[in-house]
Amino acid sequence: MGDLGWVAYPKNGWEEIGEVDEDYAPIHTYQVCRVMEQNQNNWLHTNWILTEGAQRVFIELKFTLRDCNSLPGGVGTCKETFNMYYYETNGDEEEIEDGEMRDGTGMTEEEDRLMKESRYIKIDTIAADESFTELDLGDRVMKLNTEVRDLGPLTRKGFYLAFQDLGACIALVSVRVFYKRCPFLVKSLAEFPDTIPGSEASQLVEVVGHCVNNSLPLYEPPRMHCSTEGEWLVPIGKCVCQPGFEEINGSCKVCKMGFYRSLLDSLACSKCPPHSVARQTGATSCSCEDGYYKIDSDPPNMACTRPPSAPRNAISNVNETSVFLEWSVPMETGGRKDVRYNILCRRVLPDGRGLEECGPNVRFLPRRVALSNTSVMVADLQSHTNYSFLLEAVNGVSELAKDHAKQYVSLNVTTNQAGIVVRKGHTEKSSIALSWAEPDRPNGIILEYEIKYFEKEQDSSYTIIKSKETEMVVEGLKPSSVYIFQVRARTSAGYGAFSRRFEFQTSPYCEYITATSERTQALIVAVAITLALVLLAVVAGFLLSGRRCGYSKAKQDPEEEKMHFHNGHIKFPGVRTYIDPLTYEDPNQAVHEFAQEIDVSFISIERIIGAGEFGEVCSGPLRLPGKREIQVAIKTLKAGYTEQQRRDFLWEASIMGQFNHPNIIRLEGVVTKSKPVMIITEYMENGSLDTFLKKNDGQFTVIQLVGMLRGIASGMRYLSDMGYVHRDLAARNILVNSNLVCKVSDFGLSRVLEDDPEAAYTTRGGKIPIRWTAPEAIAYRKFTSASDVWSYGIVMWEVMSYGERPYWEMSNQDVIKAIEESYRLPGPMDCPEALYHLMMDCWQRERSNRPKFDEIVCLLDKLIRNPSSLKKLVNSSHRWDLWVCFFCLFTVGEWLDSIKMGRYTELFMEGGYSSLETVAQMTSEDLRRVGVNLAGHQKKIITNIQEMRVHMNSTNSTVNI
Ligand code: AMP
Repeated sequence: MGDLGWVAYPKNGWEEIGEVDEDYAPIHTYQVCRVMEQNQNNWLHTNWILTEGAQRVFIELKFTLRDCNSLPGGVGTCKETFNMYYYETNGDEEEIEDGEMRDGTGMTEEEDRLMKESRYIKIDTIAADESFTELDLGDRVMKLNTEVRDLGPLTRKGFYLAFQDLGACIALVSVRVFYKRCPFLVKSLAEFPDTIPGSEASQLVEVVGHCVNNSLPLYEPPRMHCSTEGEWLVPIGKCVCQPGFEEINGSCKVCKMGFYRSLLDSLACSKCPPHSVARQTGATSCSCEDGYYKIDSDPPNMACTRPPSAPRNAISNVNETSVFLEWSVPMETGGRKDVRYNILCRRVLPDGRGLEECGPNVRFLPRRVALSNTSVMVADLQSHTNYSFLLEAVNGVSELAKDHAKQYVSLNVTTNQAGIVVRKGHTEKSSIALSWAEPDRPNGIILEYEIKYFEKEQDSSYTIIKSKETEMVVEGLKPSSVYIFQVRARTSAGYGAFSRRFEFQTSPYCEYITATSERTQALIVAVAITLALVLLAVVAGFLLSGRRCGYSKAKQDPEEEKMHFHNGHIKFPGVRTYIDPLTYEDPNQAVHEFAQEIDVSFISIERIIGAGEFGEVCSGPLRLPGKREIQVAIKTLKAGYTEQQRRDFLWEASIMGQFNHPNIIRLEGVVTKSKPVMIITEYMENGSLDTFLKKNDGQFTVIQLVGMLRGIASGMRYLSDMGYVHRDLAARNILVNSNLVCKVSDFGLSRVLEDDPEAAYTTRGGKIPIRWTAPEAIAYRKFTSASDVWSYGIVMWEVMSYGERPYWEMSNQDVIKAIEESYRLPGPMDCPEALYHLMMDCWQRERSNRPKFDEIVCLLDKLIRNPSSLKKLVNSSHRWDLWVCFFCLFTVGEWLDSIKMGRYTELFMEGGYSSLETVAQMTSEDLRRVGVNLAGHQKKIITNIQEMRVHMNSTNSTVNI
């Protein structure tokens, strides 16, 4: 009674009453039941309750509440709820305030109460789940209600509770105030302290655990989470026993002697592995027994090991000055898998003077030390020499085992005769220079060597050549190809064995120009001096004698023509071969095999664009049904033709129809079923190349010119791949379209030559365009793709000199003679040196030395890709045009024409400069006096006069010789 000391206000409100519960045990209650009176406001204050750090507390109330309906009368003021409040403070204010504050402020007790109550915060209105009636009371059945409310977050040290009654009939039987906490816990070798949860309802408080003795956190510190319900949740991380300890029943126990534990993630202490011991408790590793070793990278549970014994069963196999050594794995590997082998090589000095280490010249394949295989090849030993090899096996602990005596197996070997070592010298696209040393102890005097070679992987056919020297150039090879070479020597005792195989590769296609450029340059210089003089003599001779020089006749080979078509060209898979229309008995059949018949109604002739041998060449649209209209060229066969002429005319179509290439004029079809007979080809807006260039002198960039040449070379490559020899390749037979694409035209064998005004009759009766034709074709009608390459060189020259006539006005006979004497056309003005080199290569006398069309295309592509390679122009001292003109043009007028200054001829004559000798003495002053007033023209003429003087001096000295 009165134990709790709770304060009620007003005094006649809540009362402390002793009762008995249903079991007749005495209980304390606070009761109030002023249901009959109006305006009730009865407060019951608890004393100060310490939170003990809890931020959220729970209040469990047990009470009974009277059912208002069961009360007789006065139910109007009866309530069935009461309110619960709280008020937080850091100290027990009740004690302090009760006396002092009120006295100091002069407040009445009533006012003081009201002020205090105003500071309380309402927790909730509490209603009864079950109320009781008078009857219940009589039965002594207590209808006890239990209500729980939580309170938080609390921030002060303690708080008061208060219960407010507004006119109900209540008996407060029990008020239990409590908070929840997560209790101290040991989990995964980590201790988590007793923890008070957070203030929010679903909040988790993270707690870092503390590893128990002799344990360490594994990867990260262990953590747990304390919930508001006082439960430990979400464990993260854990502790493990530190090395040398193991976990037994939640604590860490030390490892016993002879056991170790090295790693955090192994659980229990392990027995020391073989050949190792742990002489103390708590070992984190075991130490090796004497004579056994471990390296850092060995795992802790690996046994201690020792060096291996020596290799076994070593054998040697001598091949000339090479030795192949082979052995078996050692009997004892020392318990390790990383056994490797080292070779010690020593040469036995003559006369037993001891041993000497093999020098760095001896090669070991794959290497000398740390061999993983049980064999090695030792090469480049001296011949007829004794060697001693020591083979040693080592493993990962050999280095550590300093006091372990090394175990070797030794092998004595005597080398034989050294094989011939072939070395590669200068290499070109079709040749390789070889050299070799004479064997050091040949069996007698060497009479000669035999060189055997074949293309790699083609050893079914090989070639053998003989040489008395220790070097030779092997020729006739394919570019970019690998060849195998072997050399053997012959003495009077016979042949020795072939050397081992040596593999060498020829240069690629494109490199030929660099390989030959040195040659060409030397040639230019030498030829410039000597041959110029020879030609001078020849020309002078012709002029003096007035005689035309014939040139040697050769017997004509009737088979030759056929060979041109099928021989001497590289055949690529997938490229069709040209079929000679001659092989058709009926020429009409050939035409219809290769050319489409076009109905004349689809063609309209609009303009005449040229004159061909058989009739006019016209142009106009072709409208084939279902096809786009295109412009075409229409070659007509004039009326009154003979059957032979008709056949010759259509011959061209039979050839052209076989080709399909962007740089070959395309045949659209033929009209043979009506008259006139026509050949329809694609229309080339800019006509023939020679006229086109003359019309546009100096108008194109070098790259544009090279682009044109590239097109022509590409068309010619196609023809040569098809096995077709053109025979009349010249700028006049190239057509140019509006995009500057050049296409090869004028096909038709003998007809072409008959047709070509440039073709001259040779002494053999055939008609040949001398200036464009290779010497072998002129001399004995050897027309091949290589002779087309010669013509291509002339076309290059025509293009680079904008349609200049090759060899100017020299007669055909002079040209033949000059070529015979190795004279070649000079580099055109402003011609890139690289292009002139290519021309000169096309004009190699030996036709096999001329580049192939695919090489030419390849080189031109390279030049186009790298325009700076075209910057260097032909040196003017190598330009012989002036020199040639001096001897082939005799008047001042012709000379002025040749430098495009013909307009001044009359002025020169009037000024008294009527011979080249007088012109050669002229100065700038003289030029002005004559009437050449334009500075540019003065400069051009003076430059040419200076060059003329240089050449005059050189020719004079020749004459003296
Ligand atoms: P040809 O009889 O083939 O030499 O032709 C004579 C002339 O006609 C040539 O020099 C060209 O000027 C012209 N010509 C021939 N074919 C064509 C063509 N396809 N496109 C434009 N002009 C051509």
